[in-house]
Amino acid sequence: MESISRIGVFTSGGDAPGMNACVRAVVRTATAHDLEIVGIRRGYAGMIDADFVDMDARSVSNILQKGGTVLKSARSEGFKTPEGRRQAAENLRSAGIQGLIGIGGDGTFRGTTLFYDEQGIPSIGCPGTIDNDLFGTDETIGFDTALNTAIENIDRIRDTADAHDRLFLVEVMGRDAGFIALNCGIGGGAELVLVPETLTEMEDIKQRIHSLMSAQARSSIVVVAEGDEHGGATRIGDALSADPAFDHIDLRVSILGHTQRGGAPSARDRVLASRLGAAAVESMIEGHANVMVGIINNEVRLTPMRNVWSRKKNINYELLKLTQLLS
Ligand code: ADP
Repeated sequence: MESISRIGVFTSGGDAPGMNACVRAVVRTATAHDLEIVGIRRGYAGMIDADFVDMDARSVSNILQKGGTVLKSARSEGFKTPEGRRQAAENLRSAGIQGLIGIGGDGTFRGTTLFYDEQGIPSIGCPGTIDNDLFGTDETIGFDTALNTAIENIDRIRDTADAHDRLFLVEVMGRDAGFIALNCGIGGGAELVLVPETLTEMEDIKQRIHSLMSAQARSSIVVVAEGDEHGGATRIGDALSADPAFDHIDLRVSILGHTQRGGAPSARDRVLASRLGAAAVESMIEGHANVMVGIINNEVRLTPMRNVWSRKKNINYELLKLTQLLS
């Protein structure tokens, strides 16, 4: 590959706090190495529309601490078609962009993998998703902030649950993974945590909740991952309410929703995003392509993009046991 002198950066898929810190690190590392850097707005949609903006070190002043993404994110159906990808590649070539740094989740990396195979445009990925469900990194950018937001909300819900001796089913995000649920279950002191990685019969759930509420005669918090096999907190709440054994229990459902995506990134996410953004640019300069940068055991590691979306990162089952031990 010819030596690289002009690259693009984009954010794609679900937004996550810390994406801006990562964009800043990418831009500043690129300029420190005398690379030209182009911001691509709205992810793949912006590639298809040639929505490009030249950036320099000053374009990313004062964004480190902001949630969301200044480059905007989007989901693009067009990029899922060969014609869309051809148009995107043509636009990038016309703008002299030789490689991409993409900040996103597994869908984004499926896209970059196909893009390289079909159009030969190399990418380096930075893991940006609150769900933490990417193989090849211990943590993703945004996970820590989302977790802290969820825990803060669970603390608030606990106050009202306690005041009324209520049972709360609190649904947290995480798509089809239970990382947020498990960690905020421990951090928020939940009496029970339901994650998609373990299959629990509805009868078991009912029995456990029932014995929790009768044995302790007080409030309980059950954290439910949105991807739980029973279909989330509302469905479980409906199943409990329909059972006469729960007639005496004051049950409420609370879905934390998009509050978990917003807000200023935590210190941990800012540091993670800064390390990964810088490592992504340096990996590209070294000639790597189609890898994701991650942090494993506190060291930067590169994982082939294909493995990131084809392999599953497991939850820590010791943490799951801990939720049972401590409840
Ligand atoms: P995330 O990156 O957070 O997982 P999505 O799954 O929505 O978010 O993916 C972001 C974008 O990546 C999609 O809107 C689409 O443009 C592109 N993409 C996702 N999957 C594919 C695929 N299989 N082939 C091509 N592009 C894809």
